[in-house]
Amino acid sequence: APVIGVLAVQGDVREHVAALAAAGAQARPVRRPEELADVAGLVVPGGESTTIDRLCRIFGLHEPIRRRIAEGMPAYGSCAGMIQLADEILDGHRDQQTFGGIDMTVRRNAFGRQVDSFETDLHVEGLDDPDRPFRAVFIRAPWVERLGDDVEVLARADGHPVAVRHGRLLATSFHPEVTDDHRVHELFVRMVDGRS
Ligand code: GLN
Repeated sequence: APVIGVLAVQGDVREHVAALAAAGAQARPVRRPEELADVAGLVVPGGESTTIDRLCRIFGLHEPIRRRIAEGMPAYGSCAGMIQLADEILDGHRDQQTFGGIDMTVRRNAFGRQVDSFETDLHVEGLDDPDRPFRAVFIRAPWVERLGDDVEVLARADGHPVAVRHGRLLATSFHPEVTDDHRVHELFVRMVDGRS
């Protein structure tokens, strides 16, 4: 089973560790730059992207993660994690930086301006059993406002892309780690293994 790290500075780390284990990976938290060397892929959890950014810079994780992603390490970000994988963000904090990697612009708290959180059934491309809808939980979620030509849209909500893939990078506006449907994590495990 591939060893997949979960960035563990803030956010719903435990939920991702459990979902990755259920999806057949060996999951481990990553808190220090040295721990990055041991993982074949990285999950950036949901939480608060401004806090994740600030703590990563304080702990010396920002630059090593940015570099591993640029060098091709597979990564998956949910919600705040999606924000941190975007090349460009709107409504970020003044000095907020992202790891980047996915050629897209996302707007923070975009759905949250209308309604703080909601759930909806989505059709998500690339999952097992594609006809079975995925129950997607959105919590102060970002949406995608601009996408590069090489970025694939896997799902939309209200017309906005909410699940995207760019090579070996995956991002969702919603939180599959809080439901017991592990198909998004299974897709990421296949991506890390090179099977998808
Ligand atoms: N609004 C949060 C942010 O900007 C993301 C919310 C979440 O991850 N549930 O980082």
